[in-house]
Order: sequence, then structure tokens, then C-alpha cells
Amino acid sequence: MTIAVLGAGIVGLCTALELQRDGHAVIIVDPDEPGVRQAASYGNGTWLNPGSVLPMSTPGLWKQVPGFLLDPDGPFIIRWRYLPALAGWLMRFVLAGRTWQQVEICATRRYELNRNTAQDHAALATEAGRPDLIRCNGLMFVYPDQAAIDAERQSWQLRQNLGIRFRKIETAELHKRVPELSTAYSLGMQMEDGGQVVDPGAYCNALYQLAIRRGATHKTARATGFSFNGNRLTAVMTDAGAIPCDRAVIAAGVGSRDLARQAGDKVPLISERGYHVVIPNPGFDLPAGLMPSDGKMGVVMTPQGLRLAGQVELASVSAAPNWRRALILLNYGRRMFPALAAKADAVEEDVGSQNYWMGHRPSTPDGLPCIGPASRSPDIFHAFGHGHVGMIQAPATGRLVAALIAGRQPACDATAFVARRFG
Ligand SMILES: Cc1cc2nc3c(=O)[nH]c(=O)nc-3n(C[C@H](O)[C@H](O)[C@H](O)COP(=O)(O)OP(=O)(O)OC[C@H]3O[C@@H](n4cnc5c(N)ncnc54)[C@H](O)[C@@H]3O)c2cc1C
Repeated sequence: MTIAVLGAGIVGLCTALELQRDGHAVIIVDPDEPGVRQAASYGNGTWLNPGSVLPMSTPGLWKQVPGFLLDPDGPFIIRWRYLPALAGWLMRFVLAGRTWQQVEICATRRYELNRNTAQDHAALATEAGRPDLIRCNGLMFVYPDQAAIDAERQSWQLRQNLGIRFRKIETAELHKRVPELSTAYSLGMQMEDGGQVVDPGAYCNALYQLAIRRGATHKTARATGFSFNGNRLTAVMTDAGAIPCDRAVIAAGVGSRDLARQAGDKVPLISERGYHVVIPNPGFDLPAGLMPSDGKMGVVMTPQGLRLAGQVELASVSAAPNWRRALILLNYGRRMFPALAAKADAVEEDVGSQNYWMGHRPSTPDGLPCIGPASRSPDIFHAFGHGHVGMIQAPATGRLVAALIAGRQPACDATAFVARRFG
């Protein structure tokens, strides 16, 4: 079969490679070169954490919403002007995490896609001839004290119930492993099976080159819709003409919403905008990716320097970046690594430069992606909406889409991910 994969972020690329394993001819459709700055897959926190099972919405969150509107320096901000447009999504978001029972069900489903993420990516990177782009040496949450760990007790319990391996790191070991870390952080929790994509942009490009070597073609175009004969797909329509094909996979990140609607599914998909800032040449390496409990952000070493990635800003896709969000991340960098203060000051002077990035997490309100057949046609498949965990879940998503297209029994229950759940 000839299958058009719409979008060449990490989800589209992993899906394209799995479809090729099944012998399909793949056409990658993307207006941009894979691996460049426009995609969320370029600038993320690089964390491959099987333990990223908790959705963003948890019980009691609604009490914090006023603070999200008012605290300009918090990890989560809603731009007032966009509140009316986002109200419906926010309502569903809060309702999705009303009880711990709901959170547990969601976590179990997320874990189905997270399970072997670092090993899966390591295997893909090896196939692509770039094993150096994946590190499988764990990930570490760092905490100021035991009280901060206790405050997240329920989350750790949930991970333990799922069989996710982690280990507490005491003060001496933490500072031996990360001597540059401020003594304001005294304890760690190591995710044993975690890993890191060393350079997500280069990794996406390596997977793209692999798909091309294996016979994929790239149509440099933006998909705009579909052409049908009855309910059967005949072509994907683009701004550069029609692409005849037997099947299509919508994997266009935050750009998927309009395509999904044309495929019969009205999905509440928004951008949870995030930022990163890089401190070049920090002068040390990290033994693993870090996440400070107070900043809720990825602190990782990349070839460009120390990347600080995080923040959630709810605003429209087209709104200009607010680099103040990135400066909040930079302040955490100063707090975590006092010796980097002067280098952080230099980065701050150059605000908006190449060291700064803003991107779009494609987010559904219930913390689960849309994977599976579209309502309008059995020939169109969804593969989008991975929110905060698209790097983690991309390999399993690709396998699931390939199994559904082939009519094989998938490795996990796919019904939880159908787009029709939004009605
Ligand atoms: C600050 C930040 C930190 C993050 N940290 C992590 C992390 O540590 N771990 C993790 O797993 N995830 C993380 N994420 C989330 C992760 O980056 C995303 O979930 C993931 O990259 C989404 O991949 P995607 O392929 O769906 O979308 P994208 O990477 O955005 O790719 C979509 C592609 O579709 C193309 N496209 C758009 N519209 C069309 C169209 N109409 N036709 C054809 N092509 C189209 C675009 O050009 C783009 O190339 C983070 C995100 C952010 C913003």
C-alpha cells in the first residue's frame, strides 16, 4: 500500500519507519525539513521517562487555576486574552483529573505507550547509524528536602504500583554525582529505566534520513484535506497538489486538529506552549537529565549547551513568544548551578537569540493521545495529541498505528486512544 504520513515530527517519523517494516511505500508530507526548529520534537526537554504516567490534570487542580491566571512567575500560565477560547478545553481538563481513580486509569493507559521508551529509541538510533544520540543512563528528580518528596507521595506510589523502577538518592551520592548542583537540593529520585535524547533535532533528522534510505519520499507541502470516493480515501490534498494514496496518517502535532476535523473527528486539541533556553559551554557534564521539583522542567546537557526546558503557557498557536517565560527557566538554572550565574547573565542579555526557543505541545484535555482510525474513513488514522510525552510515546505509537493498518492484534488496548471518545 502507499501511505501518506502527514507530519515529520518524532511521531510521524517513528510511524513512517514502522510502516516501512510492513512493506508499505511511505510518502512523508511536511512543509519543513524534519529536525528543524518549527516542530515540538526539536526543542523539548529530551526526557525519555517511562514514569511520565501522571496526566497534568490531578485532583484539586481547579483550586490552582486562579493562581495560574495571576502568578506571572509560576510554571503554568494562561494568557487572559485567550481564556474565552480555552474555557471549554480547560473545563474538560479539570474534569479529566477529578479523582485519583481517574488519574490511575489514565496513568495505566499512558504506561502502555511509555514502557520501553529509552530502549526503543536506542534501537532506532542504532538502526539510523547514530547510537550516540540516545543515552540510557537514567533520569533524576531533585528535591530540596524530604518534605518535597512526601508532597508527591501519591505520584511515586502510583509509579510503584505500575512496576516502574526508581530509587532514592541520598545527599552525599547526589552531590558526588552532580558536584555543580546547589546544596539547596539535597535528595534525588532516580528513574532507573529513563534515558535522554541527546539532540532531538539531529535525532529526528537521522530517523528521516533512515526512512529516505529505505525508500520513503518527502513531499514538501502542507496537507490541507482529503479526497474521498464514498468513505474510501483517494488522495491527500496539499497546497502543492493532490497526493494519491491508499491510507493516510495524521501526525501533524498541533497542526492535526483541522485535518482530524476533515477526517470526521472534532478533537479538543490545543497548544500547551513551552520554552527552552540554552546556556552554551557550561563547562561540565551531567550524569543524567535532571528535573527540579520546584521548577518542573527538564535540565539536560545537549551539544548546544545546558538546556532548560519547560513552562506551560496557554495561548493561541500564532501568538508571539513571551521570552519572559524562558527567563523564568534561566533563573532556575542560576539557582541550581550557582557557578553558571555569569554565563546565565550573558544569555539573558541576548534575549530572543538562537539560545531561546518556543514550541507547541499538542495537547488533549484528558492526557491521552488520539491513535486509531478516523470516523469519516477507515483509511485515515490519527497519531497526534501526545502533549508532554510525545518523544516518550512515539515508538509505541508508530507500532500501534502499523498494527491497526495491518489488521494485527496491537500490543496494547487501542480503544482508550480513539478520537471518538470526545464525542
Ligand atoms: C518545552 C517542551 C518540553 C518537552 N519535553 C518533553 C520531554 O522531555 N519528553 C517528551 O517525551 N516530550 C516532551 N515534550 C513534548 C514533545 O516535544 C511533543 O509531544 C512531541 O514532540 C510531539 O511530536 P509530534 O510529532 O506530534 O509533533 P511535532 O514535533 O510538532 O511535529 C509536527 C510536524 O507536523 C508538521 N505539520 C504541521 N501541520 C502540517 C500539515 N498541515 N501538513 C503536513 N505537515 C504538517 C510540522 O511542520 C511538524 O514537522 C516537550 C515539549 C515542549 C514544548
